Amino acid sequence: MPAAKRRPRVNLPYLIRDRAYMRDDPTDNVVRIVLATPLQTFSAVDDGGFLDGPANDVVAVLDFDLESGKASEKRKFVPQGIGKSVSCYDIGYSDLGPDSEPESFETTEFMQVSTFATVLKVLEFFESSDNLGRKVRWAFGADKLKIIPRAGEGRNAFYDRANHNIQFYFHRASQGHTIYTALSHDIVVHETTHAVLDGVAPDLYDAILPQSLALHEAMADITAITQTLLNEMVLFSYDALTGGTDKDEYSALSNIAEEFGADIRRSEGKNYLRRMKNFFCMRQNRMPDPSAAVVVPADEPHQLSQVLSGVLYAVMERRMSETHRPAADIFATLETTFVPAARRVARIIVRALDYLPPGEASFIDYGRAFVLAARTTYKRPQKEVRWLKQEFVERGIVEDGDELEPTCNMEKISVNGALAEKIVANDRAARKFVQMHRDHFGLPEEVEFELLPRTIAQKAIGRRKQRELFVKLHWRDVEQHDVAPGLGREWAVRKGVTIAVDLDSMHINVLHTVTNATLVQQRGMMLKKLHGGGRLSLTAEEKESQATQGQVVVKDADGVMELRGAMRLLHIIAD
Ligand SMILES: [Zn+2]
Repeated sequence: MPAAKRRPRVNLPYLIRDRAYMRDDPTDNVVRIVLATPLQTFSAVDDGGFLDGPANDVVAVLDFDLESGKASEKRKFVPQGIGKSVSCYDIGYSDLGPDSEPESFETTEFMQVSTFATVLKVLEFFESSDNLGRKVRWAFGADKLKIIPRAGEGRNAFYDRANHNIQFYFHRASQGHTIYTALSHDIVVHETTHAVLDGVAPDLYDAILPQSLALHEAMADITAITQTLLNEMVLFSYDALTGGTDKDEYSALSNIAEEFGADIRRSEGKNYLRRMKNFFCMRQNRMPDPSAAVVVPADEPHQLSQVLSGVLYAVMERRMSETHRPAADIFATLETTFVPAARRVARIIVRALDYLPPGEASFIDYGRAFVLAARTTYKRPQKEVRWLKQEFVERGIVEDGDELEPTCNMEKISVNGALAEKIVANDRAARKFVQMHRDHFGLPEEVEFELLPRTIAQKAIGRRKQRELFVKLHWRDVEQHDVAPGLGREWAVRKGVTIAVDLDSMHINVLHTVTNATLVQQRGMMLKKLHGGGRLSLTAEEKESQATQGQVVVKDADGVMELRGAMRLLHIIAD
């Protein structure tokens, strides 16, 4: 598109893979993607909002001097610093290149700019018309997400809603070098995805259901891998692509956070933090190779997440391998088959997030949202739907693939353009619309519901743009759980409905939060586990921002217990 080329840009350097790819370590026995260089440039559209920092309208880097603890000097924004139209940040020197030593990327300047670049790249990915097709609002209500590239010493990184930030820690590896989580592309993408998803599906943050928390983790991991698979500049080695010497041809592409993982999992002989090509499941008996299957506990979100990320990666890999045509020209292969196949599945994975019903969404809820997203995005989504169902059944998430069929189209309800406009503009009109059709939307009688902000997406569907209106609502349901003496027996559980209206055809799709006995039981297990581990702090008021990391606040709301901030348990690694 020639028009797009004329828009002013800001060029921002970043690392597409972590620095494990720069170290020649023959002892770690890694089948690696061979990269010409992990150093790349993200070219952001300069909308006039870029400031010293780096910062723009929605993201600001906040860095501290490690000695004094004072705020570090801001990087200066240099308008048109490169040629006539391309802007940049002053990182003080310009000798970083493909042959630079791994340590040369450890400067304050580079870390600030590269973390910023990666966060913006992830935002652009989610917001593009290829995917969500709309701006994402942060769940914490303020304009800017703060990024702290060096929050202190530690083996972790996390998104913190209460303090509006993402904190990246660093530590000294057993082999002597320092590992900065802010220099790990996978970890930065992972944490940014938590922040984005929190804006899209905020109820997951306070969920009791382990699967809701695992959903966050799975999305964060799968997005990290997707960012690599969609990067046409990445030169995969011919071996990794075709399986020349490596029988497991895609395995090298599905590892997360190699530098960080190789250090903290050295004793296990692993050279990654997590691997998306996996055999994690909830039950063993239907797995194609039961002896390779790994059954995960239903109440441990990090492990559980790998069941879902394994499902999604498998769908992506099947699409990629099916469309793969070996070609002599590696770049041609990447551009014409590999990357488009990954993009096709990524679109479904991301769009499903907007169909997700509010409340404590489970894997089944996500599976149904995926099926709906596949059908609204593509004319022929049959294969992706079939593969997804098969994976859900094999991994023991559902008994039968038909459980993933979304509720029917709401043929009886008619919406026209004028009504849709009213619903968008006016809370009362939106409430009235929901009230009028509450039976069709599956709302229990008498329940008081709360409307979430309506959104309109502009999605690319084939060659055209489609406008879609999302009306989402949630309410409080109560479940009985006997957790411990001193804690009430009634626990609040958020449930919800998403109503999606295709504003061109005026077709309506509706998805509800699924509830079944298994999920209720899993919530009970989770509460007992949190209590047993001393992680529940009972409070009469909201004191979330002061709560210690690793603690979940239980609020007593007139005798009904409400969990707050369970998602704060999700660090890049489990404690
Ligand atoms: Zn996480």
